[in-house]
Amino acid sequence: MKTIGLLGGMSWESSLLYYQIINETVKARLGGLHSAQCLLWSFDFAEIEALQAAGDWPQATQAMIDAARRLQQGGADCLVICTNTMHRMAAEVQAAVDLPLLHIADATAEQVRAQGIQDIALLGTRYTMEQDFYKGRLIERYGLNVLIPDAGGVQVVHDIIYDELVRGVVKDTSRQQYQQVIGELGRRGAQGVILGCTEIGMLIKPEDSPLPVFDTTYLHAVAAVDWALAE
Ligand code: GLU
Repeated sequence: MKTIGLLGGMSWESSLLYYQIINETVKARLGGLHSAQCLLWSFDFAEIEALQAAGDWPQATQAMIDAARRLQQGGADCLVICTNTMHRMAAEVQAAVDLPLLHIADATAEQVRAQGIQDIALLGTRYTMEQDFYKGRLIERYGLNVLIPDAGGVQVVHDIIYDELVRGVVKDTSRQQYQQVIGELGRRGAQGVILGCTEIGMLIKPEDSPLPVFDTTYLHAVAAVDWALAE
């Protein structure tokens, strides 16, 4: 088994899910007392969020590169960035280390394509929904048609992530707001929805959604196990 290097703490609420899914998947595949061999670098998320909010992406990129190098020095065989948003600097992080970076959008888009879906909604932070680093990859590499909420929906989805989910707060009223946003995206033609923020799965389970969901946390964590157990 290879060693999975997790770049986490963004937030720790979702890193916990990665750790759990990765270990449960290894246990299901190998049985007995098997569990995942992994290293976790966990940021103080307050520092990361402050850089995001200030638009200081160069400093955020440097922090990500420093952490990736620590994981490499610690013996990781691959890198898993446990947040969609911080894939903004995936190319710079990849260039700074000798480890393969397992991209969250690839793990997700492959499943979307496997379900025969072309028109896909994307929920996440404002950065993920509006900037090009994520949507662009889905469009250019996988030929998907990506729909995001209208301006009001973007605000609601983003605020619930930072005001509630990354703090471990899960509210029924927020679930209803997400359901409305997803329903509207369905009326605009989306055939499924990418939960493109690693905490959204805490709020929206498949049965809560009017559209089929693609939970990036689950898909990325399982892709990491696939990689770690491959011959
Ligand atoms: N975990 C979130 C994501 O997947 C948001 C937190 C962050 O800004 O990294 O985008």
